[in-house]
Amino acid sequence: MKKSPNSEYDIIIVGAGPAGSSAALFAQRLGLKPLLLDKSIFPRDKICGDALSGKSVRLLRDLDLLEKTRELPGAHIKRITFGGPKYQQFDLHLKGDSEGKNDEGFSIRREIFDDMLFRTVQEAGIDTLEGFTVKNIIQDKGFVTGVKGILKESNEELSFTSKLLFGADGYNSIVAKKLNLYDMDMEHTSVGIRCYYENVKDLTDQIELHYVPELIPGYLWIFPSDGNRANIGVGLSKDDAKQKKINLVKVMEEILSKPPFVERFSDAEPLEKPKGWNLPLGSIQRENHGNGFMLLGDAAGIIDPFTGEGIGNALVSGKIAAETAKQALELGNYSSEILKAYDVQLWDELGSELKVSTKLQRLAKSKFLLNFVIGRASRNEDIREIISGMLSNEIPKEKLNNPFFYLKLLFY
Ligand SMILES: Cc1cc2nc3c(=O)[nH]c(=O)nc-3n(C[C@H](O)[C@H](O)[C@H](O)COP(=O)(O)OP(=O)(O)OC[C@H]3O[C@@H](n4cnc5c(N)ncnc54)[C@H](O)[C@@H]3O)c2cc1C
Repeated sequence: MKKSPNSEYDIIIVGAGPAGSSAALFAQRLGLKPLLLDKSIFPRDKICGDALSGKSVRLLRDLDLLEKTRELPGAHIKRITFGGPKYQQFDLHLKGDSEGKNDEGFSIRREIFDDMLFRTVQEAGIDTLEGFTVKNIIQDKGFVTGVKGILKESNEELSFTSKLLFGADGYNSIVAKKLNLYDMDMEHTSVGIRCYYENVKDLTDQIELHYVPELIPGYLWIFPSDGNRANIGVGLSKDDAKQKKINLVKVMEEILSKPPFVERFSDAEPLEKPKGWNLPLGSIQRENHGNGFMLLGDAAGIIDPFTGEGIGNALVSGKIAAETAKQALELGNYSSEILKAYDVQLWDELGSELKVSTKLQRLAKSKFLLNFVIGRASRNEDIREIISGMLSNEIPKEKLNNPFFYLKLLFY
């Protein structure tokens, strides 16, 4: 692809993860012309737990990609197990929505899942460019008008222009940095490490989050994957990791080498060295727009603070950004005042559940409360129903903003 001097594209999307690829598909559906750029060549790995739960399934259905996703190598998920610091645990069955849809989840390696999304974009006839690292933003009279970058294979500098720019370039977003919206402080960022293993015992149709004493409010995850493989990892807020001087690789080794996990890992072999990456959490509301641009997915910092899930929210941001772009293009107005609608709608859609998850994350800081709640949930179906409702966003906002609701959770 050559340098394009005119605004040939409606939108340039930087980053072809779930946020960028979904934005490209939603934009095309609305009649817009996007260009999707990524510094990687697909298929590429992304450090992740790989879990796709209810919201991701809903958005994949919306994109007509659910069947395609089901056919990918991976694990089909029906339950979530929560384990407490005293190693008591309870299971929640994925309930789905009121129509009985979205009651399933998946664990699919991102190397496979993101490649499927990216190939779908290409098959839809959308222009894409892989191996292109965006290095700078082009601006004119205070408005973003394009990007400059380097094409890996030729080391050539190229620039592209468009009416709008989407920064969907993940945690370390160059778009957010260049536009002074990069605000990833320790308090609202977690760090996680992932390691694929084979031959872990007792993997079924469940993903497991274990709030073990060494890590709380962080956790160990054990997720089944394709074939004989499992995705194992630990995650913790950066603040806690620093304050407690936790070496995540060492702690994970220790946890897996003693009860109750040691037996399940007695024949297990790591398939790689553990790899780490950051998770920008939606425990604060950030500004994700300006003249001519919007930030999506991890670049917007909207990962669920309690569960660490970000793929579903990235897909939601892709949809809302495309819809906002459509409105701006119809008005021929790409100003911050118009694009503000993106941030408003994003928070309308995600804000209440992000606030609940922030409360749950705080609750998880107390070993006592975690033991209490997980212990009660392991014995009491009603408590499990409440937690399930909270996680699937089915409990009305007013209830969630009422402190008595949380007392009920403790003393039901
Ligand atoms: C350890 C860990 C475990 C996690 N587990 C889960 C989980 O189980 N389930 C879940 O839902 N979420 C999980 N998450 C969160 C999830 O990985 C992210 O929320 C999700 O990947 C966000 O998607 P995205 O499209 O915004 O960004 P990304 O998936 O990060 O994609 C960004 C893309 O931008 C490209 N890019 C970056 N810079 C440039 C540049 N300068 N020029 C061009 N391209 C660029 C990258 O190559 C990449 O392809 C986890 C995260 C971590 C770190």
